[in-house]
Amino acid sequence: MNNEQRFWHRLSGHLILAGGALILIALGQFQWGTAAESTEPMVTAVSTPQPIAEAEETEATPTPLPQGPLPVINDNSLAPLPNPRTYQTKLPAHDFQMHEVARGETPNIIADQYGISADTLLGGNTWLSQESNQLQVGAQLVILPVNGVLHKVRAGETIESIAELYQVPAADIIAYEPNNLEFPFYRLVPESELVIPGASIGQFYFTAPKSVATNAAGEPQWKVFGTGTYIWPTNGRCITQFYNGFHPAIDVSSSEGAPVYASDTGTVTYASFASGTYYDYGNLIVINHGNGFETFYAHLSSIGVFPGQTVTQGELIGFTGNTGRSSGPHIHFEIRDNDFRTNPLDRLGGGYQNCVG
Ligand SMILES: [Zn+2]
Repeated sequence: MNNEQRFWHRLSGHLILAGGALILIALGQFQWGTAAESTEPMVTAVSTPQPIAEAEETEATPTPLPQGPLPVINDNSLAPLPNPRTYQTKLPAHDFQMHEVARGETPNIIADQYGISADTLLGGNTWLSQESNQLQVGAQLVILPVNGVLHKVRAGETIESIAELYQVPAADIIAYEPNNLEFPFYRLVPESELVIPGASIGQFYFTAPKSVATNAAGEPQWKVFGTGTYIWPTNGRCITQFYNGFHPAIDVSSSEGAPVYASDTGTVTYASFASGTYYDYGNLIVINHGNGFETFYAHLSSIGVFPGQTVTQGELIGFTGNTGRSSGPHIHFEIRDNDFRTNPLDRLGGGYQNCVG
């Protein structure tokens, strides 16, 4: 295209656009015109055929409302009552502090930080079983602001029945402000949680540890020392995997949940679901015997001790299980001599059964 052609081409383009705009304006005015004219009732407008040629323009016309009185429905069941109001029960509004258990902490150490009793740790965290203490490093604890129990409301319960359950005055539950119990009905919402001040659900199964001091090099100075003798960690003697270079331990088969005992006296240094180095061990307890020896108890179903706790030879420390890399309930037991994994059968007395294969 030369310049002249280009000029005409552009000009014609502009003319088409301008023409289109004019048509649109004209149509719009026509619309505005009909709207301005409709001083008559809208019903008339509907019965009159639309004088607008363009189909899309009719879509813009609003659908008229039906005229005349509204139909009477002879049913007042859904009619609002005079002065309607929804009674909405307030939910408890707690704002609990949380505490992450650190190594070496005991229930008393934690409770003292918050000015509550150790039993209140149990009261705020009812998942902590009394028989099998799950209080271990990393556990997240709800810290109740007062001594008591956190109670989850069940359907049908009343303030009176809950007060009766915990043997505390109902007035104390009502008076605890964050419970949000409203006079006069003190309605309870099932599944909501109330703090029951002064209540208790029992005491921790926990033996206070002896303090473990550290020497100048920062190494623990064990206050508790092993006897140097080792007893079987379970009642079973059925060995499914012996000690070898690839498996520097023994596996003793067991039913799920059989008791596990401290093989010798010492201090618990690990009591948790294993991570990091101990990845495959599942729930693991490690006891340091203070004499260079450690014992390892792996794949447990539950742990009954706390890091820092001292245990004596033969003390119940947990229960057998199938956690971690394990193909069935058994205990994986190691005796380490200054980090070297020795053959436990060299130190365990008595006979055993060969259950391999
Ligand atoms: Zn094993």
